[in-house]
Amino acid sequence: IPLSKSDTIKMQKFKLSEIDSIKRTSLLKRPIINSDDIMARVRPIMNDVRNKGDAAIIEYTAKFDKVQLSTPVISAPFPPEAMALDDVTRRAIDQAYDNIYKFHDAQYDRSTLVVETIPGVVCSRFSRPIERVGLYVPGGTAILPSTTLMLGIPAKVAGCKEIIIASPPRKDGTVVPEVLYVAHKVGASKVLLAGGAQAVAALAYGTESVPKVDKICGPGNQYVTAAKISAMISIDMPAGPSELLVIADNSSIPTYVASDLLSQAEHGTDSQVVLIGVCLTPEHLADIEREIHEQASRLPRVDIVRESISKSFILQVNNMNEAMKFSNDYSPEHLILHIDDAEKWVNAVENAGSVFIGAYSPESCGDYASGTNHTLPTYGYARMHSGVNTLTFLKHITAQKLTKQGLKDLGHTVMRLAEIEGLEAHRNAVHVRICDLENE
Ligand code: NAD
Repeated sequence: IPLSKSDTIKMQKFKLSEIDSIKRTSLLKRPIINSDDIMARVRPIMNDVRNKGDAAIIEYTAKFDKVQLSTPVISAPFPPEAMALDDVTRRAIDQAYDNIYKFHDAQYDRSTLVVETIPGVVCSRFSRPIERVGLYVPGGTAILPSTTLMLGIPAKVAGCKEIIIASPPRKDGTVVPEVLYVAHKVGASKVLLAGGAQAVAALAYGTESVPKVDKICGPGNQYVTAAKISAMISIDMPAGPSELLVIADNSSIPTYVASDLLSQAEHGTDSQVVLIGVCLTPEHLADIEREIHEQASRLPRVDIVRESISKSFILQVNNMNEAMKFSNDYSPEHLILHIDDAEKWVNAVENAGSVFIGAYSPESCGDYASGTNHTLPTYGYARMHSGVNTLTFLKHITAQKLTKQGLKDLGHTVMRLAEIEGLEAHRNAVHVRICDLENE
């Protein structure tokens, strides 16, 4: 298929050496989200759920999901027939579960940190699970047992006492069996058959059938994200459309590079994919572009890909330092290194949700089953946020124990600092003890 045809599926192309700083800054940006408009739609829904409880969940599920529910919640133990799977599907989920469990369990340091800062002053820190968590599994346009695994396993590893999963129901008012099977495996107590802001509000405020949770995690569309932010509850992170940045040099395999770019571009028309070409020869670049077009044309979601690819871009740079600098400034959710000596360059990664190293590490493996988490920071939030992990479901508590001698040695410092701040009761709490100790 000649690439000059007008219906060619292709990315825009730029050379770093030929663009100015304004253009470079614009390439680093994500599409602007009109959050005021979304917030204005989400607030009344949330207020209704807060005031009318289950009745509002049922009403909004009928309105947005076109499903009439009699009750919005399924409680454990879940009926076996509602989570029956064929052997191949069950084995795939089980292998993914085991790998994700192994990696997230290894993240949990169950020991207590103990430090004697000066003799007789012992500080310690220990962790406890967040008691009740709500996990949002998107369901508007796709079936996502993988997201149920990615949220449910770290919550289970952390030891959360109650896990409640929310996901929009299918048209017949049931939950996808794959999602229910994972809900069962992670020990969820309830599945809320609702999506969007109404589901987030139910988890944040509680209703007759949904217990109020302490934290809400999980990706979702703009209504879900706006609801998570406006509920003023602890959340994992704000989320935006999925994104991928690939760095490729002439050692890369064009078929693989194109397949990775497309695996992200098929998520949605708002997905972002970026290819940074390091000294690519014109022939190598043409091979990648041809592969993008040919592979995209064969995809069932070609219409989505056509739109997301047309908004995506290729940036040609002259060396790896330029490539890494751009990638760190962009802070991608996913970063794939299709370069010679890829492992060496991981040291130069400052900002990214998750990194895929070398030709045989497609992002799809991290999305489903290698062990790492796929709920990752988008929209540049990788600059300051981590993806979901076991710590997401834990909190740390500190403690201290002072001996008499410890208090004697620290007391004067504390009293002086309290004095400077004008907090006399603070000073006195030390003073009364020091007086006693000095009279001993
Ligand atoms: P969703 O479950 O997030 O949203 C569906 C819900 O949106 C519906 O139940 C409905 O209640 C609500 N809704 C729809 N139209 C509405 C309207 N006009 N007003 C108010 N509420 C409305 O499912 P989705 O829409 O398919 O979005 C899923 C998102 O999650 C995508 O953006 C996808 O990229 C993202 N995602 C991200 C990850 C990740 O790990 N980063 C993983 C999976 C999915």
